[in-house]
Parts: sequence; structure tokens; C-alpha cells
Amino acid sequence: MIIDIHGHYTTAPEGLETWRKRQIAALTDPAITIDTADVRISDDEIINTLESNQLLKMRERGIDLTIFSPRASFMAHHIGNAATSAAWASVCNELCYRVTQLYPAHFAGAAMLPQSPGADTRTCLEEMERCIRDYGFVAVNLSPDPSGGHWTAPPLSDRYWYPIYEKMVEYDVPAMIHVSTSCNPAFHTTGAHYLNADTTAFMQCLTSDLFTDFPTLRFIIPHGGGAVPYHWGRFRGLAQAMHIDDIHSKLLKNIFFDTCVYHQPGIDLLTRVIPVENVLFASEMIGAVRGIDPLTGFAFDDTRRYIDSAALTATEKKLIFESNARRVYPRLDSLLSAQGR
Ligand SMILES: [Zn+2]
Repeated sequence: MIIDIHGHYTTAPEGLETWRKRQIAALTDPAITIDTADVRISDDEIINTLESNQLLKMRERGIDLTIFSPRASFMAHHIGNAATSAAWASVCNELCYRVTQLYPAHFAGAAMLPQSPGADTRTCLEEMERCIRDYGFVAVNLSPDPSGGHWTAPPLSDRYWYPIYEKMVEYDVPAMIHVSTSCNPAFHTTGAHYLNADTTAFMQCLTSDLFTDFPTLRFIIPHGGGAVPYHWGRFRGLAQAMHIDDIHSKLLKNIFFDTCVYHQPGIDLLTRVIPVENVLFASEMIGAVRGIDPLTGFAFDDTRRYIDSAALTATEKKLIFESNARRVYPRLDSLLSAQGR
């Protein structure tokens, strides 16, 4: 199997954005009422958007299943308050749940959490439980910066986050560390903020004992791990200076990287530097980078080509394409096993 662990519903029907705009308008206009039941999206609209976009490309590229979550840049946790985020996450997650019901062989869900700057993380637990228990989602997306580029939250090692980690451990689900849109003009959303967050999350883990407190907690750091693999020597050197004997045993039982790196040299570096057991196939297709690379003639986000061409054995490729995902996402493995896959 080829499992893409990083997909978002970036092509969601217009009804979603219409609802969100109304929700935002209601924040400043008490005359506007908004309810999560007001979303008007038909199954046909969902089918059409997927068949002409994600599913079409999955079939072209031979990807069997995508772990699918709400559009990351639209999470925008900084808008409104915890109640705003709760309603928005509920609407977005339900839409992804409908995708997984329409195409159970092709999509498994990952939840957006109703985070809000400064809000108690316990406010995320109800939606998280609903998505895992009732919707059968296999993971969550956790933003280390719900402020949208102003970094007002404590580091991921802080006890502020522990209620979410306790729930993750209880349900044995991993989290993809994924920020949303940047409302800080200094940081471009997908070109800077995302990659900053990936690198920052790794360093927060390195400088803490988070995985001593939660030995089974698992994070996926997307976009190839930000700057981490490229600067692996720097991180090893910093670890050594901090008297951390072995960065591998400290972090690599708990931290994994995806392959959303959009050129061959980047994938070659990633798979050479990071143990293959810690690399999971992903493309984040129809995401940040949608064009054709004139150097290759293929889509930048057609990451399967880079793995296929990397200097890896068939066994190593199988780990990256399938086995690692089934190990890191046990609920996905159970779903697939129940489907006889
Ligand atoms: Zn993403």
C-alpha cells in the first residue's frame, strides 16, 4: 500500500467558506446568528470536489489512502475565542468525517483541534474524543502556535499541553504538529511560518523531558521536519553540548518526519540523515505548492517520484510508504486490517 499521511481538504465546497465568513461576521454583528447545523454542503458536492482533485491525483500517482484533515491554513485559531474555534472545528471535522464515510477505502480522518490563544487546552478534549471515538479518526493536528505567528503559547513541553497529550496517549493517536495561517506579516504562512514551526517544535522537544513524561507520545513533524534534517549536525552538536548522550534515543522513538519536501535532493538528504523508520510518506497534495516543476516536468508535490528514485532498498521504501504509518498510527492499522488490507 501507499499511504499519504498528510492531506487537507483544501478543495472543500464553497458552503464551508460561506459558513465561516458568516461566523466571523457574527463576531462583530449581534444581528447575525450562526449555528453549526447551518452548513449547506451536499454529498454530491463533496464527491465532485474530491473526484476532480485529490482522488484524481491519488489514482494518477498510485496513492491508496490519504490521512485527511481540515484545511490547515483555514484553522485560524486566532479568530474569536474558544467557542468560535469549537464551532469551526466541529464543522470542519464533520465535513472530513463525511469524506471518510463516502470513501472509506481512500481517506482516514485526522482532527483539527478547537485551539484558541490562551484558552485552557481542556477545551479541546470534547471535540478530540468525538473525532476519535465517534468518527473513527486516527490522529489529530496540534498547533504549537494558535496565535497565528505571534508565538504567545508556551513551548510544547509545558504542562499547558498535557491534557491533550494525556488524551492522545489514552487513545493511542499521534499528533501532526501543524500551525495555521500567519497573521504576522513577518512570516509568510507556507514559506516561513510552517517551516519555522516544524523546526521550533523539534527544538522544544530536544530541550525538554517531554518524552520521559509521555514515553508513548508520538509527533509527526511535517514538511520534511522543517530545517531539522538539513541541520542535523547542528542539532546533534547542540544535544552534545547539553550533555544529551544520544539524540536518537531521546527523540526518535517519538518524533517522525513526513516527506513533504518538493525536490529530489531534499528527499535524498532526508532519507540519508534520518533513519528510514522515522520517515513517513506524504505529499500534502493540492496544498502550498501546486505548480509543475519546470526542471522535471512533474508536479512539485508529486513526492512519490522522489521516494521511488531515492537510493533506498525495496524494504526501506515499504517502511516509508506503508509500514511506518501503520506503526505510528495504530488506529489506521486497525481500520485497514478491518478492511482486509
Ligand atoms: Zn499540512
